[in-house]
Amino acid sequence: MKTQKKRYKRWIIAAGGVVVLVFLLMVFAGRFEGEKPQLQINLAVPVIGPSQEIEIEVADAQTGIRKIWIGLLQKGREITLLKKTFDNAGIEKDGDVHRSLFSIKINPAQLKIAEGDAMLRISARDQSWRNWGKGNQVYLEKQITIDTQPPSIEILSRGHYVRQGGTGFVIYRLSEPCPQAGVKVGQHLFPGHFGYFKKSDIWMTFFALDNRQSTQTPIHITAADYAGNQSAVALKCFINRKAFKKDIINISDRFLARKLPDFKKELVDKSSQSAIEKFLTINREVRKANFEKIAEINHSTHNQIFWEEAFVRLPGSAQMSGFGDGRIYKYKGKIIDKQTHYGIDLASINQAPVPAANHGKVVFAQHLGIYGNTVIIDHGFGLFSMYAHMSRIAVTPEQTVSRKEVIGYTGSTGLAGGDHLHYAMMVHDVFVNPVEWWDAMWIKHNVTQKIKQVEKEIG
Ligand SMILES: [Zn+2]
Repeated sequence: MKTQKKRYKRWIIAAGGVVVLVFLLMVFAGRFEGEKPQLQINLAVPVIGPSQEIEIEVADAQTGIRKIWIGLLQKGREITLLKKTFDNAGIEKDGDVHRSLFSIKINPAQLKIAEGDAMLRISARDQSWRNWGKGNQVYLEKQITIDTQPPSIEILSRGHYVRQGGTGFVIYRLSEPCPQAGVKVGQHLFPGHFGYFKKSDIWMTFFALDNRQSTQTPIHITAADYAGNQSAVALKCFINRKAFKKDIINISDRFLARKLPDFKKELVDKSSQSAIEKFLTINREVRKANFEKIAEINHSTHNQIFWEEAFVRLPGSAQMSGFGDGRIYKYKGKIIDKQTHYGIDLASINQAPVPAANHGKVVFAQHLGIYGNTVIIDHGFGLFSMYAHMSRIAVTPEQTVSRKEVIGYTGSTGLAGGDHLHYAMMVHDVFVNPVEWWDAMWIKHNVTQKIKQVEKEIG
């Protein structure tokens, strides 16, 4: 009787034990998960500058983060950048940290890290009870370069001249690869390009001086490397003064009656304006919006020089107005507006065929406000030609055109009074005087001779 009772008791204890064990297993099973934490390094380019911030994200969906260690190894020396241990919330996992973002500032000079290669090492563990309680580990190594020195800029071309409203050109060498370099004229940056020369450290930039910029405008070559180190050198560039003409344009009621219907779209909410107010809206606001559109188009350019020889001027044409003319608009004898004419007006026979000024790629071929039917050709490295007021466009965007190939026919679309071609040239988003580009001698002295001289010296 007694032994039976004892046996019965043992049974209860054993069963109870099993129940408790099953219960504990159910509670702790999650603590034995085998999923590693996840690491992510936010460093766009693997280069560390003089004061670099790196963001590292650690995530562990299951038990949460236990430890994170970040170090830097260079020439056998290891520096700990960060070491952090997280508390375990206990049996209940809800309190654990499942995601954390670390922002580490690396100052190579303070840490006494030398220029050159280094290894970024990151290790993280989670709160799992696997691996004898140490948790699941993730380990990551990333090869990086320490670069605290700005690129050096060596000017290779010689004899730099630019006219007000004209184009300038310079060739230079950078001591290291740079994502961006260019010429700063006053506050305006003209991006540079490499790839013309076999050696990719040789860059060239076409830049421009706005017709309103003074002969004392500072011109610098600037470069920034992948670590963000910046440098600049002054470019000794002689700026020639250029006088710009004044031109009076009388606006007649007949002109307004003929032209305003063409601007229905632009004047849609201006129905309360008088005819001359509408003209001013077009001459100011539409002009400005059209320019912004052109500037936007010209922000991207082909990394190749397409053109050769002098640019072609509309054959058999007479110049009606010049580049940089200060236009004074008069209505019934009163001055109503002032604008600058940023192209050259050329008149020939009506609907004369318009040749492409040089080889290039069509980047724009459609109607554009005051310019009417317009074509813009990219000649590469930021040089563009523009043809406005055409009666008909004969090309499509993306089309490759050759020098002298017909791209359209002259007309009087847009804000033109009579049949003519408004021919303009741009260096990136600044209008320049086309006369220079029509002149073979100017091109020789300012561009091709410089290229040849550098080719001869560099090989
Ligand atoms: Zn014009």
